[in-house]
Amino acid sequence: MIKPPPLRNDCFALPQGVEWTPVSEALAHLQSRLTPVTQVETVALSFALGRTAAAPVLAPRASPPAANTAVDGYGFAGPVQEGAHLMSLLPGRAAAGAPFNGEVPQGKALRVLTGAALPKGVDTVILEEDVTASEDQIALHGPLKRGANTRAAGEDVCVGDTVLADGRVITPADLALLSSVGVAEVAVHAPLRVAVISTGDELREPGTEAAPGQIYDANRPMLLSMIERFGFKAVDMGRVPDDRNTLRATLDDAAMQADVILTSGGASAGDEDHVSALLEEAGALQEWRIAIKPGRPLALALWNGKPVFGLPGNPVAAMVCTLVFARPALAALSGQGWTTPQGFDLPAAFEKRKKPGRREYLRARLRGGQVEVFASEGSGRISGLSWAEGLVEIEDGARHVQPGDPVRYIPFSSFGL
Ligand code: AMP
Ligand code: MG
Repeated sequence: MIKPPPLRNDCFALPQGVEWTPVSEALAHLQSRLTPVTQVETVALSFALGRTAAAPVLAPRASPPAANTAVDGYGFAGPVQEGAHLMSLLPGRAAAGAPFNGEVPQGKALRVLTGAALPKGVDTVILEEDVTASEDQIALHGPLKRGANTRAAGEDVCVGDTVLADGRVITPADLALLSSVGVAEVAVHAPLRVAVISTGDELREPGTEAAPGQIYDANRPMLLSMIERFGFKAVDMGRVPDDRNTLRATLDDAAMQADVILTSGGASAGDEDHVSALLEEAGALQEWRIAIKPGRPLALALWNGKPVFGLPGNPVAAMVCTLVFARPALAALSGQGWTTPQGFDLPAAFEKRKKPGRREYLRARLRGGQVEVFASEGSGRISGLSWAEGLVEIEDGARHVQPGDPVRYIPFSSFGL
């Protein structure tokens, strides 16, 4: 007959590491330790969209390079006093790209077109609609301030101004700004390569048969596409059964092909939790018990020198942990620098009582200016992830949210999705 094991004298002691780390502390910890791991290359502007600047770019030229007219009209030396005036009109004109080479004497006017460099003697322009013009004269009404309807040299950008900050993810508008000051190429980080591995004996591929005890792999397509949306390069390492040798080989392979590895599943301390067991074996596992809901311990480690994020298997927790922890960490590794998603305090359309201790993220969306949350907080409900357009973040302490109370809504777009 076998006997149950005797109670140990420390059986009521808290397990080691039961202190739950607040989300903000965990984030600060990651932020202080992660630095860019990507190489730097120079690319032409036509290849720079969405890339991450690897150094600040200073304007080599001012914009506009010379004072010019903002409208079609007539240029002269201002200001013009109150009342009616006649000015004689010089022959010729100044147009964009076709300057007037002479000088405009005091009291005379010249035809000017939008974008034309202001000729010598001109500092003020009157709109053509405000003028009656003949062959050799214009009639106008004052007053008009000196400088009216003109753009000063360098009023947008001066030589030496920073036109692109280090870590900036280059946008279409950035390409316009860089081009306007004559920049043709920029130093950028190589795209961060992020490997994704799903783990679990139960997982099957959509399009194949699945027995009743099996489920389709939902995390891999989600994580791969999130990485692409974040602007990184996703490396699909497929599914791995709960088998240590296969997992070890896949991690080795992933560490060769990528800069960072994301795994999902098997990250807790159960019998089939081979991710944490292997990482433990490699000697570098950090089990992060973060005070977050949804979420399980996050396994963090280095595998052959590459950071590994062991995400929970549960798709809801996997997505939330990726948005809250992995994304800013990946941004720091990629050269973008740490990112904090922009949230908005908006009225709740729901009621919720929350106990103190864990920060909570609810699947949410904005309708009619109010924040709705998904009907079920069940952490296996993938349909709620698909329903949601953002998350509601409820602070670590106790809270009783009532309809109309402000809650922090973070749209998925703020997380880079
Ligand atoms: P685990 O962390 O491996 O214990 O998994 C927790 C739960 O998430 C289990 O119900 C798993 O079946 C489920 N799960 C794990 N990986 C995936 C995946 N890739 N797609 C869908 N569900 C998963
Ligand atoms: Mg599993």
